[in-house]
Amino acid sequence: MTEPVADPITLGELGDIPVERLRGVGDKKQAALAEVGVTSVLDLLTTYPRRFVDRTSEARISDLIPGQEALVLVTVRSVTKKTMRNRRTMVEARVGDGSGGLHVVFFNQPWREKQLREGLQIALFGKAEVYRGGLQMTNPIVDLIGDRTGKIVPIYPQSDKVQLNTWEIAAWVENALERCAARGFADPIPLAIRRRHGLIDRGRAMHQIHLPETMGEKEQARRRLAFDELLRVQVVLVMRKRAVERDQRGIRHNTSGELVRRFHAALPYPLTGAQQRTIAEVEADLAGPHPMHRLLQGDVGSGKTVVAVSALLCAVQGGHQGALMAPTEVLAEQHATGVQQLLDGLRVPDVKNLFGERQVRVVLLTNRVTGQDRRDVMSGLADGNIDIVIGTHALIQEGVAFHSLGVVVIDEQHRFGVDQRAALRTKGSHDAVPDVLVMTATPIPRTAAMTVYGDLDVSVLDEMPPGRTPIKTYWANGPLMELAAWGDVRDAVAAGRQAYVVCPLIDESEKLEVASAHETLERLVHQDLHGLRIGLLHGRLPSAEKEAVMNSFRAGDLQVLVATTVIEVGVDVANATIMVILDADRFGIAQLHQLRGRVGRGAHASVCWLVTGDIDGKSPRVEALVGSTDGFELAEADLDLRGEGTLMNTMQKGRSDLKLASIRRDRELVVLARDAAFQIVDSDPMLVNHQVLLNEVRLLLSADDEAFLFKS
Ligand code: ADP
Ligand code: MG
Repeated sequence: MTEPVADPITLGELGDIPVERLRGVGDKKQAALAEVGVTSVLDLLTTYPRRFVDRTSEARISDLIPGQEALVLVTVRSVTKKTMRNRRTMVEARVGDGSGGLHVVFFNQPWREKQLREGLQIALFGKAEVYRGGLQMTNPIVDLIGDRTGKIVPIYPQSDKVQLNTWEIAAWVENALERCAARGFADPIPLAIRRRHGLIDRGRAMHQIHLPETMGEKEQARRRLAFDELLRVQVVLVMRKRAVERDQRGIRHNTSGELVRRFHAALPYPLTGAQQRTIAEVEADLAGPHPMHRLLQGDVGSGKTVVAVSALLCAVQGGHQGALMAPTEVLAEQHATGVQQLLDGLRVPDVKNLFGERQVRVVLLTNRVTGQDRRDVMSGLADGNIDIVIGTHALIQEGVAFHSLGVVVIDEQHRFGVDQRAALRTKGSHDAVPDVLVMTATPIPRTAAMTVYGDLDVSVLDEMPPGRTPIKTYWANGPLMELAAWGDVRDAVAAGRQAYVVCPLIDESEKLEVASAHETLERLVHQDLHGLRIGLLHGRLPSAEKEAVMNSFRAGDLQVLVATTVIEVGVDVANATIMVILDADRFGIAQLHQLRGRVGRGAHASVCWLVTGDIDGKSPRVEALVGSTDGFELAEADLDLRGEGTLMNTMQKGRSDLKLASIRRDRELVVLARDAAFQIVDSDPMLVNHQVLLNEVRLLLSADDEAFLFKS
């Protein structure tokens, strides 16, 4: 009789095997590994090399070209340490590789003396220079190779602090792989999908990522394992999306009513093609039996408000209510004013009065609405007298009850948590879940949107309303160039235009920010813009005063508006054609783009000056803004510059286990993984026929997710 063959090993099982079961992992090493987050064999096997040294193709010392960066594999011959004046240290090493010798110096890295023992194999990456007739590298990057053999040497993340080195890790990994070999690795991806996307199997990938024979093998392995990571994320998102569609009962809204039609007819302009398409997408969701879950992406000025208001009115025309939620009080107030203006004179048929009609009722609710006003709003929401409420998160607080909340629009999603979205959904009545439209004014690259907002449908407003002139953007690098910016402001004002000056961003404190805004105002009034009519706007002004300042700027009484970032969204003055942003390098790309969107709103040519202190060299963000006015293009640039860290912070716990995959570099894989996730989930909604995948996905889920996705 033959032994029964055990099933291939799963990640779940590997996660249950403590790492100290491996040969060579004693108490001390176990503690060191725990320190870097490795406690199970799974943790160890997913500690991927951070670099590979290719013995077959790296330069030899005799091939080094002075002035060019290169990697060489060498053996340490001797090391000495000197302490120089002012206690600086210099470690010098002689290294060689058979083709020649190289002199290496390290400044202020005294520990190199102990690290670089004689006879050690190391990889050095740096620029060789000619020094005293020989070649020298100064402060190169050093990787310890140990006595590893093989053409490609993996370099693991090492830790000097807890004393783990790359060859120890490599040996444990090898040991773990050997022990897995008998059973092999269970593969979560169906063969058909693997074939279609040219993905190697899991076991081979695990082997090749740690012990590749060629760099090509390593790439294949990376692609496969990155795909796995992305697939897990997408499966969770797609399951969540399908669960909502399957289980949540929504309102079938009346999308052919009179109110929306009247609203569109009363607009002073025709809808753009993109607005028409997007409104149709939203209405199709609203008419359906399941609650809408849609992300509306559109660049600054692309006309998202009209789409949002159309959705809200759709609820109202069916006898329901709409809510618009903004991330700050200032934005909520601006939205309220804007929407009230937009709906001025719009009448809704009143069912309580057979022939009557009444004005659509729009109110503001923030924490600044207090006393009797607040009580009025609360009772109006509860009895249905209020049609549309605009506010902050105050809207989702305890005690706010709606008569019948039908549609919720959330502006600027990136500042809201998923929990808050969920809380708002519970505000629906009669267990019908309101439809949700999430608007973001910060375009997100497509693949990032798929990852961060993958449980939402996406509409894109990719067409600007006509009649805009492109904005020219300049970098004022240093005080001299700044003078040119102020000259431009004076010229524009002389020609009858108006200007914004945006004050330096001070993250830590609004109080400091306001103080600096006052300083800026003083300086401009007395110096650079002496004689012009200048006003000041910041978040700490009382509402009435803010209103007064905005009104006189709109009316043209004020020629220049000095403001903090409160003008980021919602301010719309077509005659303002020039913006000067101070300390522009303190802002992020998205925010600069957002701010700049306040100009270029009319027929006159507009200019944006980005002022920085004298920067010696590059300012990639400022340069990106100078180079493009396309929000999506800038979003891609932003992703390239910042990496995905910031984006991933907005994701739920467990979603950020991307160790190999990068939504920046692996854009193509994100799309493939999403397609595969749809294919798998739609053919097998609870993954009963994809047990390996199911188990891997479950490793990622929070208890809430678990309950939500597998409640039956
Ligand atoms: P967003 O919220 O996407 O930044 P807004 O909704 O504030 O953009 O619209 C920007 C400006 O464009 C507003 O002044 C608005 O009145 C105007 N606008 C919106 N839609 C159109 C259109 N179809 N044609 C002309 N102007 C439009
Ligand atoms: Mg619906």
